[in-house]
Amino acid sequence: MKTIGYAAFSTDAVMAPYHFERRALRPNDVAIEILFCGVCHSDLHTVNGDWGPQPYPLIPGHEIVGRVQAVGSAVVHYKEGDRVAVGCLVDSCQQCDQCEKHAEQYCRTGITPTYGAPDRVDGVITQGGYSKHIVVREEFVLRIPENMDLAKAAPILCAGITTYSPLRTWQVGRGSRVGVVGLGGLGHMAVKLAHAMGAEVTVISRSDQKKAQAIAMGAKAMLISSDTAAMNAAASAFDLIIDTVPVKHDVSIYTPLLDVDGTLVIVGQVGPLNELMTIPLIMGRRRIAGSLIGGIAETQEVLNFCAEHDVYPDCEMIRMDQINEAFSRLKEGDLARRFVIDMASLNPN
Ligand code: NAP
Ligand code: ZN
Repeated sequence: MKTIGYAAFSTDAVMAPYHFERRALRPNDVAIEILFCGVCHSDLHTVNGDWGPQPYPLIPGHEIVGRVQAVGSAVVHYKEGDRVAVGCLVDSCQQCDQCEKHAEQYCRTGITPTYGAPDRVDGVITQGGYSKHIVVREEFVLRIPENMDLAKAAPILCAGITTYSPLRTWQVGRGSRVGVVGLGGLGHMAVKLAHAMGAEVTVISRSDQKKAQAIAMGAKAMLISSDTAAMNAAASAFDLIIDTVPVKHDVSIYTPLLDVDGTLVIVGQVGPLNELMTIPLIMGRRRIAGSLIGGIAETQEVLNFCAEHDVYPDCEMIRMDQINEAFSRLKEGDLARRFVIDMASLNPN
């Protein structure tokens, strides 16, 4: 199937139209017309080459929402017209212990991400959601709940699941004290989800610029990371902190904020951090952990949770040709919401 997307052609990350082909349907494939795609900071890291060399031309995008256009002969769960979604992964071995327990993101053989990796069958490089169409095997397609607004759902597929998964793993519920570092795409979903789970949420930000937005999302307070007196006063105040900062930084300013046995979960920076101060860890049996997106079943769970609890990402709709501008804004980090591309703005020719 001939289609079009916006690709990066080198690490300078200037995105431009790119005509390419989606594979012919295999028996277990679903062909999707993409209606909306969220813009994740990971898209920017990837096309910039922050995580190593990339197979250009590369089409990013892993917060994909659309409608089923056609299905392969063996597909049982989807039919033409269904409202569906695709997140950060499009294949895994489906056989290892991690896949068996629905933690495909930790597949022992490695996942096939939605863009930038060879397809497990034909070796063709996967291309993401900044495009008109995608073809994905049935097991990796999600269903959009009936009452969910398609235009608002996209960021749940990465920002939502990436923060929902640690909130569930560390059993956040009524009375939990949760800190969220960085109020961007992931951070704003962490606040909304933790609040909906009954937690008391504090946003830890670089300035108070986003305070009104944080409170409107359900946060109880905002802590400014450069305000030493306030940070000292908040010692031992949290059971769980979710750190979404997208660059190398100092986590040792956040660990003293954890209570005894508390955990700081890093979901942001993928790579080195500043030198670690172990004193807060040792003195309070505090932990530092990491977490990667979520499995397919858990991604369906967060979609259903959002529909049930009326939790929606704050989306700023953009046209496909505004993507380079959107990437510049993401780099600045001043956005307490998600850019979402309205794919109707991408001319198929
Ligand atoms: P984003 O929208 O750009 O938000 C990041 C936030 O971090 C900013 O809004 C800002 O919040 C804060 N920040 C930015 N630069 C900073 C700096 N230099 N120092 C301290 N804080 C800074 O990004 P995102 O889409 O949420 O993604 C965040 C990170 O998560 C990215 O690195 C992305 O690759 C990663 N990620 C990981 C997973 C996973 O599975 N673990 C999944 C998706 C994304 P304040 O203004 O409030 O300080
Ligand atoms: Zn993402």
